[in-house]
Amino acid sequence: MNRIGKLILGASATLLLGTSLLAQKTVGIAMPTQSSARWIKDGGTMKTILESRGYKADLQFAEDDIQAQVAQVENMITKGDKVLVIAAIDGAALFNVLEKAHAAGVQIISYDRLIVNSPWVSYYATFDNFKVGVLQGGYIVKALGLDKGKKGPFNIELFAGSPDDTNAGYFFNGAMSQLGPYIKSGVLKVRSGQTDFAKVATLRWDGAVAQKRMDDILTSKYTDARVDAVLSPYDGLSIGILSSLKSVGYGTAKKPLPVVTGQDAEIPSVKSILAKEQTQTVFKDTRTLAKRAADMVDAVLSGKPAEINDTKTYNNGVKIIPSYLCNPVNVDITNIKPALIDTGYYTAAQLGM
Ligand code: BGC
Repeated sequence: MNRIGKLILGASATLLLGTSLLAQKTVGIAMPTQSSARWIKDGGTMKTILESRGYKADLQFAEDDIQAQVAQVENMITKGDKVLVIAAIDGAALFNVLEKAHAAGVQIISYDRLIVNSPWVSYYATFDNFKVGVLQGGYIVKALGLDKGKKGPFNIELFAGSPDDTNAGYFFNGAMSQLGPYIKSGVLKVRSGQTDFAKVATLRWDGAVAQKRMDDILTSKYTDARVDAVLSPYDGLSIGILSSLKSVGYGTAKKPLPVVTGQDAEIPSVKSILAKEQTQTVFKDTRTLAKRAADMVDAVLSGKPAEINDTKTYNNGVKIIPSYLCNPVNVDITNIKPALIDTGYYTAAQLGM
Protein backbone atom coordinates (compact mmCIF):
# COMPACT_ATOMS: atom_id res chain seq x y z
CA MET A 1 0.00 0.00 0.00
CA ASN A 2 1.42 3.40 -0.91
CA ARG A 3 1.73 6.30 1.52
CA ILE A 4 -1.47 8.01 0.40
CA GLY A 5 -3.36 4.75 0.75
CA LYS A 6 -2.09 4.33 4.30
CA LEU A 7 -3.02 7.93 5.13
CA ILE A 8 -6.56 7.42 3.86
CA LEU A 9 -6.84 4.17 5.81
CA GLY A 10 -5.52 5.88 8.95
CA ALA A 11 -7.92 8.79 8.53
CA SER A 12 -10.94 6.53 8.09
CA ALA A 13 -9.90 4.49 11.13
CA THR A 14 -9.73 7.70 13.19
CA LEU A 15 -13.14 8.74 11.88
CA LEU A 16 -14.62 5.38 12.74
CA LEU A 17 -13.06 5.47 16.17
CA GLY A 18 -14.50 8.97 16.63
CA THR A 19 -17.98 7.81 15.70
CA SER A 20 -17.83 4.79 17.94
CA LEU A 21 -16.56 6.91 20.83
CA LEU A 22 -19.52 9.20 20.34
CA ALA A 23 -21.76 6.16 20.25
CA GLN A 24 -20.30 5.06 23.55
CA LYS A 25 -21.00 8.30 25.39
CA THR A 26 -23.51 7.52 28.08
CA VAL A 27 -26.10 9.99 29.30
CA GLY A 28 -27.56 9.35 32.75
CA ILE A 29 -31.27 10.06 33.09
CA ALA A 30 -32.41 10.33 36.72
CA MET A 31 -36.20 10.41 37.01
CA PRO A 32 -38.08 10.81 40.30
CA THR A 33 -40.65 8.03 40.28
CA GLN A 34 -42.64 5.54 38.27
CA SER A 35 -45.72 6.13 40.43
CA SER A 36 -46.79 8.84 38.00
CA ALA A 37 -47.12 7.96 34.32
CA ARG A 38 -45.72 11.26 33.15
CA TRP A 39 -42.22 10.47 34.45
CA ILE A 40 -42.27 7.03 32.83
CA LYS A 41 -43.13 8.73 29.56
CA ASP A 42 -40.47 11.42 30.09
CA GLY A 43 -37.79 8.82 30.82
CA GLY A 44 -38.78 6.56 27.94
CA THR A 45 -38.92 9.41 25.43
CA MET A 46 -35.54 10.78 26.54
CA LYS A 47 -33.98 7.34 26.20
CA THR A 48 -35.38 6.84 22.69
CA ILE A 49 -34.27 10.27 21.49
CA LEU A 50 -30.78 9.96 22.96
CA GLU A 51 -30.28 6.48 21.52
CA SER A 52 -31.43 7.70 18.10
CA ARG A 53 -28.69 10.32 18.33
CA GLY A 54 -25.98 7.73 19.00
CA TYR A 55 -25.71 7.91 22.80
CA LYS A 56 -26.19 5.20 25.36
CA ALA A 57 -28.88 6.03 27.88
CA ASP A 58 -28.71 5.03 31.53
CA LEU A 59 -32.30 5.52 32.78
CA GLN A 60 -33.03 5.28 36.51
CA PHE A 61 -36.13 5.94 38.62
CA ALA A 62 -35.85 6.56 42.37
CA GLU A 63 -39.43 5.97 43.54
CA ASP A 64 -39.52 9.31 45.36
CA ASP A 65 -36.73 8.24 47.71
CA ILE A 66 -34.27 11.13 47.97
CA GLN A 67 -31.31 9.02 49.13
CA ALA A 68 -31.96 6.48 46.39
CA GLN A 69 -31.76 9.25 43.80
CA VAL A 70 -28.52 10.58 45.28
CA ALA A 71 -27.08 7.03 45.14
CA GLN A 72 -28.21 6.60 41.53
CA VAL A 73 -26.57 9.87 40.50
CA GLU A 74 -23.39 8.91 42.35
CA ASN A 75 -23.38 5.60 40.53
CA MET A 76 -23.81 7.31 37.16
CA ILE A 77 -20.72 9.41 37.89
CA THR A 78 -18.71 6.34 38.92
CA LYS A 79 -19.77 4.51 35.75
CA GLY A 80 -18.42 7.40 33.66
CA ASP A 81 -21.69 8.87 32.31
CA LYS A 82 -20.79 12.10 30.53
CA VAL A 83 -23.94 14.14 31.06
CA LEU A 84 -26.67 13.74 33.64
CA VAL A 85 -30.24 14.79 32.95
CA ILE A 86 -31.93 15.02 36.33
CA ALA A 87 -35.53 15.54 37.42
CA ALA A 88 -34.86 15.95 41.13
CA ILE A 89 -37.06 14.60 43.91
CA ASP A 90 -35.79 17.27 46.29
CA GLY A 91 -34.19 20.13 44.38
CA ALA A 92 -31.76 20.89 47.22
CA ALA A 93 -30.60 17.37 48.06
CA LEU A 94 -28.14 16.94 45.21
CA PHE A 95 -25.59 19.55 46.23
CA ASN A 96 -22.82 17.17 47.36
CA VAL A 97 -23.24 14.67 44.58
CA LEU A 98 -23.15 17.45 41.98
CA GLU A 99 -19.84 18.63 43.46
CA LYS A 100 -18.53 15.14 42.68
CA ALA A 101 -20.04 15.27 39.20
CA HIS A 102 -18.31 18.54 38.48
CA ALA A 103 -14.97 17.25 39.80
CA ALA A 104 -15.32 14.28 37.43
CA GLY A 105 -16.09 16.56 34.47
CA VAL A 106 -19.72 15.45 34.23
CA GLN A 107 -22.21 18.02 32.97
CA ILE A 108 -25.64 18.56 34.47
CA ILE A 109 -28.98 19.40 32.91
CA SER A 110 -31.94 20.08 35.16
CA TYR A 111 -35.02 18.38 33.75
CA ASP A 112 -38.45 19.91 34.41
CA ARG A 113 -37.64 20.57 38.09
CA LEU A 114 -34.99 23.09 39.06
CA ILE A 115 -31.93 21.86 40.97
CA VAL A 116 -31.22 24.54 43.55
CA ASN A 117 -28.08 25.81 45.34
CA SER A 118 -25.64 24.15 42.95
CA PRO A 119 -23.49 26.18 40.54
CA TRP A 120 -22.96 23.10 38.34
CA VAL A 121 -26.23 23.13 36.43
CA SER A 122 -25.61 24.09 32.79
CA TYR A 123 -29.18 24.29 31.51
CA TYR A 124 -32.78 23.88 32.60
CA ALA A 125 -35.41 22.39 30.29
CA THR A 126 -38.91 22.90 31.63
CA PHE A 127 -42.36 24.35 30.93
CA ASP A 128 -43.59 27.82 31.68
CA ASN A 129 -44.44 26.85 35.24
CA PHE A 130 -46.07 30.15 36.25
CA LYS A 131 -48.32 29.82 33.21
CA VAL A 132 -49.38 26.33 34.34
CA GLY A 133 -50.80 27.96 37.49
CA VAL A 134 -52.37 30.79 35.47
CA LEU A 135 -54.17 28.17 33.35
CA GLN A 136 -55.45 26.36 36.47
CA GLY A 137 -56.53 29.47 38.40
CA GLY A 138 -57.87 31.17 35.27
CA TYR A 139 -59.93 28.08 34.48
CA ILE A 140 -61.67 28.27 37.86
CA VAL A 141 -62.35 31.99 37.37
CA LYS A 142 -64.07 31.29 34.03
CA ALA A 143 -65.86 28.10 35.13
CA LEU A 144 -67.49 29.94 38.04
CA GLY A 145 -68.28 32.93 35.80
CA LEU A 146 -66.29 35.34 37.96
CA ASP A 147 -64.95 37.04 34.85
CA LYS A 148 -68.59 37.67 33.82
CA GLY A 149 -69.29 39.36 37.14
CA LYS A 150 -70.84 36.50 39.13
CA LYS A 151 -70.56 37.45 42.77
CA GLY A 152 -71.08 34.10 44.51
CA PRO A 153 -69.79 33.89 47.09
CA PHE A 154 -68.26 30.59 46.03
CA ASN A 155 -66.33 28.22 48.27
CA ILE A 156 -62.90 27.13 47.14
CA GLU A 157 -60.13 25.04 48.68
CA LEU A 158 -56.50 25.28 47.62
CA PHE A 159 -53.86 22.61 47.17
CA ALA A 160 -50.21 23.03 46.17
CA GLY A 161 -47.45 20.59 45.29
CA SER A 162 -44.33 19.47 47.10
CA PRO A 163 -42.49 22.28 48.92
CA ASP A 164 -39.07 20.86 47.92
CA ASP A 165 -39.93 21.26 44.22
CA THR A 166 -39.61 24.87 43.05
CA ASN A 167 -42.28 24.19 40.41
CA ALA A 168 -44.88 23.90 43.17
CA GLY A 169 -44.32 27.55 44.12
CA TYR A 170 -44.52 28.75 40.50
CA PHE A 171 -47.76 26.80 39.94
CA PHE A 172 -49.29 28.17 43.14
CA ASN A 173 -48.24 31.76 42.48
CA GLY A 174 -49.53 31.55 38.92
CA ALA A 175 -52.89 30.25 40.13
CA MET A 176 -53.10 32.85 42.89
CA SER A 177 -52.41 35.61 40.37
CA GLN A 178 -55.88 34.72 39.04
CA LEU A 179 -57.71 33.66 42.21
CA GLY A 180 -56.13 36.02 44.73
CA PRO A 181 -58.13 39.15 43.80
CA TYR A 182 -61.44 37.24 44.15
CA ILE A 183 -60.38 35.79 47.51
CA LYS A 184 -59.47 39.30 48.63
CA SER A 185 -62.81 40.73 47.55
CA GLY A 186 -64.75 37.89 49.21
CA VAL A 187 -66.26 36.48 46.00
CA LEU A 188 -64.20 33.33 46.68
CA LYS A 189 -64.20 32.04 50.23
CA VAL A 190 -61.68 29.56 51.62
CA ARG A 191 -63.62 28.12 54.55
CA SER A 192 -60.62 26.15 55.85
CA GLY A 193 -58.73 29.45 56.13
CA GLN A 194 -55.72 27.66 54.59
CA THR A 195 -54.34 29.96 51.92
CA ASP A 196 -50.57 30.05 52.58
CA PHE A 197 -48.33 27.94 50.40
CA ALA A 198 -46.82 26.25 53.46
CA LYS A 199 -50.29 25.23 54.70
CA VAL A 200 -51.60 23.94 51.38
CA ALA A 201 -48.42 22.24 50.10
CA THR A 202 -48.45 18.44 49.64
CA LEU A 203 -45.16 16.72 50.40
CA ARG A 204 -43.92 14.43 47.55
CA TRP A 205 -47.02 15.26 45.50
CA ASP A 206 -48.73 12.42 47.36
CA GLY A 207 -52.36 11.88 46.34
CA ALA A 208 -53.16 10.07 49.61
CA VAL A 209 -51.97 13.09 51.61
CA ALA A 210 -54.19 15.40 49.55
CA GLN A 211 -57.14 13.04 49.96
CA LYS A 212 -56.67 13.01 53.75
CA ARG A 213 -56.43 16.81 53.88
CA MET A 214 -59.59 17.14 51.80
CA ASP A 215 -61.36 14.61 54.11
CA ASP A 216 -60.42 16.70 57.15
CA ILE A 217 -61.54 19.96 55.54
CA LEU A 218 -64.87 18.48 54.42
CA THR A 219 -65.59 17.10 57.88
CA SER A 220 -64.66 20.22 59.77
CA LYS A 221 -65.87 23.01 57.43
CA TYR A 222 -68.42 21.74 54.95
CA THR A 223 -71.13 19.88 56.83
CA ASP A 224 -73.52 22.78 56.08
CA ALA A 225 -71.94 24.21 52.90
CA ARG A 226 -70.77 23.04 49.50
CA VAL A 227 -67.36 23.25 47.86
CA ASP A 228 -67.61 24.95 44.48
CA ALA A 229 -64.00 24.64 43.33
CA VAL A 230 -60.73 22.98 44.26
CA LEU A 231 -57.40 24.22 42.99
CA SER A 232 -55.34 21.08 42.48
CA PRO A 233 -51.91 21.41 40.88
CA TYR A 234 -51.46 17.82 39.71
CA ASP A 235 -53.65 14.98 38.43
CA GLY A 236 -52.42 12.55 41.11
CA LEU A 237 -53.71 14.94 43.78
CA SER A 238 -56.93 15.62 41.86
CA ILE A 239 -57.79 11.91 41.86
CA GLY A 240 -57.34 11.78 45.67
CA ILE A 241 -59.38 14.95 46.14
CA LEU A 242 -62.18 13.58 43.95
CA SER A 243 -62.26 10.33 45.97
CA SER A 244 -62.65 12.37 49.11
CA LEU A 245 -65.48 14.44 47.62
CA LYS A 246 -67.27 11.36 46.32
CA SER A 247 -67.00 9.69 49.73
CA VAL A 248 -69.24 12.40 51.19
CA GLY A 249 -71.76 12.26 48.38
CA TYR A 250 -70.53 14.70 45.73
CA GLY A 251 -71.02 13.58 42.15
CA THR A 252 -74.82 13.30 41.99
CA ALA A 253 -77.40 15.53 40.28
CA LYS A 254 -78.34 16.97 43.68
CA LYS A 255 -74.75 17.42 44.79
CA PRO A 256 -72.57 17.94 41.71
CA LEU A 257 -68.80 17.81 42.00
CA PRO A 258 -66.95 21.10 42.27
CA VAL A 259 -64.62 22.38 39.55
CA VAL A 260 -61.37 20.44 40.06
CA THR A 261 -58.20 21.32 38.15
CA GLY A 262 -55.12 19.20 37.50
CA GLN A 263 -51.91 18.83 35.54
CA ASP A 264 -50.09 16.35 33.30
CA ALA A 265 -53.06 14.92 31.39
CA GLU A 266 -52.43 11.49 32.90
CA ILE A 267 -54.73 8.80 31.56
CA PRO A 268 -56.81 8.26 34.75
CA SER A 269 -57.46 12.01 34.88
CA VAL A 270 -58.31 12.34 31.19
CA LYS A 271 -60.77 9.48 31.67
CA SER A 272 -62.10 11.26 34.76
CA ILE A 273 -62.62 14.41 32.65
CA LEU A 274 -64.47 12.34 30.06
CA ALA A 275 -66.62 10.96 32.91
CA LYS A 276 -67.35 14.59 33.97
CA GLU A 277 -65.58 14.21 37.32
CA GLN A 278 -62.24 16.08 37.11
CA THR A 279 -62.85 19.29 35.18
CA GLN A 280 -59.53 20.38 33.77
CA THR A 281 -55.90 19.41 33.39
CA VAL A 282 -52.80 21.04 31.97
CA PHE A 283 -51.16 19.10 29.16
CA LYS A 284 -47.40 19.32 29.07
CA ASP A 285 -46.10 17.50 26.01
CA THR A 286 -43.21 15.53 27.46
CA ARG A 287 -42.00 14.74 23.93
CA THR A 288 -41.21 18.41 23.37
CA LEU A 289 -39.49 18.67 26.73
CA ALA A 290 -37.41 15.53 26.15
CA LYS A 291 -36.30 16.85 22.76
CA ARG A 292 -35.23 20.16 24.29
CA ALA A 293 -33.26 18.34 26.98
CA ALA A 294 -31.61 16.11 24.34
CA ASP A 295 -30.61 19.24 22.40
CA MET A 296 -29.00 20.52 25.61
CA VAL A 297 -27.08 17.23 25.92
CA ASP A 298 -25.78 17.69 22.36
CA ALA A 299 -24.86 21.28 23.14
CA VAL A 300 -22.86 20.64 26.32
CA LEU A 301 -20.99 17.77 24.68
CA SER A 302 -20.13 19.74 21.58
CA GLY A 303 -19.31 22.93 23.46
CA LYS A 304 -21.90 24.85 21.42
CA PRO A 305 -24.65 26.91 23.07
CA ALA A 306 -28.11 25.31 23.38
CA GLU A 307 -31.23 27.14 22.29
CA ILE A 308 -32.85 28.85 25.27
CA ASN A 309 -35.78 31.25 25.63
CA ASP A 310 -35.47 32.43 29.22
CA THR A 311 -32.51 33.94 31.01
CA LYS A 312 -34.35 35.73 33.81
CA THR A 313 -36.76 33.51 35.72
CA TYR A 314 -34.94 30.57 37.21
CA ASN A 315 -32.49 31.72 39.84
CA ASN A 316 -31.40 28.56 41.65
CA GLY A 317 -29.93 30.43 44.58
CA VAL A 318 -26.44 30.57 43.06
CA LYS A 319 -27.08 31.79 39.54
CA ILE A 320 -29.77 32.15 36.93
CA ILE A 321 -29.96 28.93 34.97
CA PRO A 322 -30.38 29.43 31.20
CA SER A 323 -33.69 27.78 30.45
CA TYR A 324 -35.97 26.63 27.71
CA LEU A 325 -39.62 26.93 28.71
CA CYS A 326 -42.05 24.78 26.73
CA ASN A 327 -45.68 25.77 26.44
CA PRO A 328 -48.34 24.19 28.68
CA VAL A 329 -51.83 23.69 27.20
CA ASN A 330 -55.20 23.90 28.94
CA VAL A 331 -57.31 20.74 28.46
CA ASP A 332 -60.91 20.07 29.40
CA ILE A 333 -63.74 18.01 27.93
CA THR A 334 -63.97 20.32 24.91
CA ASN A 335 -60.48 19.74 23.49
CA ILE A 336 -59.27 16.27 24.50
CA LYS A 337 -59.29 15.06 20.90
CA PRO A 338 -57.30 17.89 19.27
CA ALA A 339 -54.89 18.27 22.19
CA LEU A 340 -54.18 14.68 23.13
CA ILE A 341 -55.24 12.37 20.33
CA ASP A 342 -54.69 14.33 17.12
CA THR A 343 -51.20 15.22 18.39
CA GLY A 344 -50.44 11.50 18.76
CA TYR A 345 -49.83 11.73 22.52
CA TYR A 346 -52.47 9.08 23.24
CA THR A 347 -54.58 6.83 21.07
CA ALA A 348 -58.36 7.08 21.35
CA ALA A 349 -58.33 3.47 22.63
CA GLN A 350 -56.00 4.37 25.53
CA LEU A 351 -58.57 6.92 26.64
CA GLY A 352 -61.47 4.55 26.08
CA MET A 353 -62.89 6.88 23.40
C1 BGC B 1 -43.97 18.64 37.47
C2 BGC B 1 -45.44 18.39 37.27
C3 BGC B 1 -45.86 17.18 38.06
C4 BGC B 1 -45.37 17.22 39.47
C5 BGC B 1 -45.65 15.94 40.20
C6 BGC B 1 -43.68 18.73 38.93
O1 BGC B 1 -42.35 19.02 39.13
O2 BGC B 1 -43.62 19.83 36.81
O3 BGC B 1 -45.69 18.19 35.90
O4 BGC B 1 -47.27 17.16 38.10
O5 BGC B 1 -44.00 17.49 39.52
O6 BGC B 1 -44.98 14.87 39.61
